[in-house]
Amino acid sequence: MKQPHAITSILQQLLQQSQPLYREGKVANYIPALANVAPEQAAIAVATIDGQLHTAGAADTAFSLQSVSKVFGLVMAMNRLGDDLWHRVNMEPSGLPFNSIVQLEWEKGIPRNPVINAGAIVVSDVLVSHYSASKNAFLTFIRRLANNEHIYADQAVYLSELEHGNRNAALAYLMKSFGNIEAEVPQVLAHYFHQCATSMNCQQLATSLLFLANRGVQPHNNEQVCSRRDAHRVNAILSTSGMYDQSGEFAFKVGLPAKSGVGGAIVAIVPQFGVITAWSPALNKFGNSVVGMKLISLFAEELGLSLF
Ligand code: GLU
Repeated sequence: MKQPHAITSILQQLLQQSQPLYREGKVANYIPALANVAPEQAAIAVATIDGQLHTAGAADTAFSLQSVSKVFGLVMAMNRLGDDLWHRVNMEPSGLPFNSIVQLEWEKGIPRNPVINAGAIVVSDVLVSHYSASKNAFLTFIRRLANNEHIYADQAVYLSELEHGNRNAALAYLMKSFGNIEAEVPQVLAHYFHQCATSMNCQQLATSLLFLANRGVQPHNNEQVCSRRDAHRVNAILSTSGMYDQSGEFAFKVGLPAKSGVGGAIVAIVPQFGVITAWSPALNKFGNSVVGMKLISLFAEELGLSLF
């Protein structure tokens, strides 16, 4: 593995190399709070399980977690429900857009996987049904993982998500009609939008997911966040389904479990090494950050990190 100072200078070089791509993507525009984010920003952070943190660019600028929040919700639900979760959500790639509704009808209300919207809504239902205050429980979980009490959910993002949430509501009501949502739909959606609205920066995000690179154990306090088996399983799902309809290409070119969100963040897990996070708001047609993809691909290639 490279020396620590070498990693930081690689990150700085990669950031410079990626800057010409700033204008190739488009910032998510379905809510004003995301549409107003300036596109020409980028950051990369690498946290390692032995406690190093390397960054380049705006690594302490906060962004909206959006779909990346699905990883945290999934781990909480796996911890609460155990293997019963897999009766309510499948573990297969979907091959359709993240908010697709047709597959749900064919498959009788069982989402293809927990990191498309329908799957994350089932996960939110599990959390709402198992915690008296699921939104607080979610924030408490992330704060503990990031070792940072200041992480919060952005109210403006939360409220606009609620206002523009018709398709997610349609997914939730369809699943309820099949008996796969237990709580009341508005409560489930409120949890889901609240977790999407979590605001974090690249350093916090990289640190908070280290347990997935470390067999379920969070290095800074040795907490067993999830079992070793579940850490492997989450990584397997992220490898096959974490990058929207570009998951196959990402596995082919980068070869790491990863999750992205329409806020422009991408997190990639490198088992036994650490976590890479990249953020830049402009997205490609699949909803993945253009610069974020470039940064993570170049870094993984430079260090030979592909698992395959
Ligand atoms: N809040 C967004 C939605 O549910 C998340 C989308 C995403 O990041 O994929 O539509």
